[in-house]
Amino acid sequence: IEESVAEDIARFEESFVGITKRYRLINRIGEGTFSTVYKAEDLEYNNYNNRWDTDERENRKWTSPGHRKRSVKRPHYVAIKKIYVTSSPMRIYNELELLYDLKNSDSVCPLITAFRHLDQVVAVLPYFQHRDFRDYYRDMKVPEMRLYFRSLFTALRSVHSKKILHRDIKPTNFLYNPEQARGVLVDFGLAEREGTDWHQCACTLSSEERRYRISHSIHAQTQQSGHQPACYPKNDTRSSRRANRAGTRGFRAPEVLLKCTQQNTSIDMWSAGVILLTILSRRFPFFHSADDIDALLEITTIFGRKKMKEISLLHGQVFETNIPSYSDNGHSLEKIILWCTGRTKTETGIKPELEEDEKEAVQFLYRLMECDPDKRITAEEALRHPFITRAFE
Ligand code: ADP
Ligand code: MG
Repeated sequence: IEESVAEDIARFEESFVGITKRYRLINRIGEGTFSTVYKAEDLEYNNYNNRWDTDERENRKWTSPGHRKRSVKRPHYVAIKKIYVTSSPMRIYNELELLYDLKNSDSVCPLITAFRHLDQVVAVLPYFQHRDFRDYYRDMKVPEMRLYFRSLFTALRSVHSKKILHRDIKPTNFLYNPEQARGVLVDFGLAEREGTDWHQCACTLSSEERRYRISHSIHAQTQQSGHQPACYPKNDTRSSRRANRAGTRGFRAPEVLLKCTQQNTSIDMWSAGVILLTILSRRFPFFHSADDIDALLEITTIFGRKKMKEISLLHGQVFETNIPSYSDNGHSLEKIILWCTGRTKTETGIKPELEEDEKEAVQFLYRLMECDPDKRITAEEALRHPFITRAFE
């Protein structure tokens, strides 16, 4: 391993007193915005038999007469997630608590235990062997997509059945093993329970502050109406709407971008749709925008102005743009996928088409990237959709 990684591991072992008694740190496997993750060997695994492992059963198998001489001890690997000390205690608690709640959920990586030393908290999870999404998404055939999404929706069905929103569905948070056609969902750092009141901050304002904000917003609105051309207001003095927009750029559902205050589990289904679009179009990341307005415009390119106006109204927002290049009706996802994969009109004038199974994938994709969250397919429904059930045929 790299010298800098070795140094980082040594620093961690030194600062987190006692960690080396139980774990042998092997490598650094992840470095995100909120944590560093290490692969480690659990040295005491055989003393504390954890139930999510088949070691016990295998031991018995290997010690049957014919195999008596085989060694029964296999190293047991874990992932140690070192949560950055800059994370708020509430945030850390939230992640651990949700993981604990999800401990018996299908396709969700379970929490084994957690430790704290001073301000440092670590979560210990079973190590899951997987492959980097970037290594396989370009080569995935439709039958493999069915398996990938069956696994992802199995995880989401478990999470959503507990009324938990993951909020950060993306390839790096769904560890997938293509050989086994199995994956596990990780990273509940941004997850929350449905109905968490993000307005609370506004509700707890003093009555004076509230009155000020309301009059101010009405004032600003009346000033704006009438003579001004419809454009993006530059000196908008109205207080901005507050809604949870946690997540990763490019994967946020339109209602998150529109600051809908009642977001529910369907936001994860949109993000899953972005993954499917990524795989079908062989473009990763598919959406690039740095901010929410640009992200909305990227979505407008696909779905068109009319649809964006419509869904904005659902969330009490008005969508206006004077950029002439956006068409009213946008483009079909079929067309976009054909463009992205270089299947454009040939010299012979034959109109290129998607393969039959790709067409079926696109029909399914439309159900995931449904702009109206109330109409979007749920994880439970997705698992019954022909696109997924066909995986068994
Ligand atoms: P962050 O909040 O920093 O994004 P994650 O929980 O997503 O942290 O973990 C970051 C990375 O660490 C993952 O993308 C994955 O590569 C790796 N990782 C996390 N948990 C495991 C695990 N149980 N098994 C193997 N690798 C893991
Ligand atoms: Mg992550």
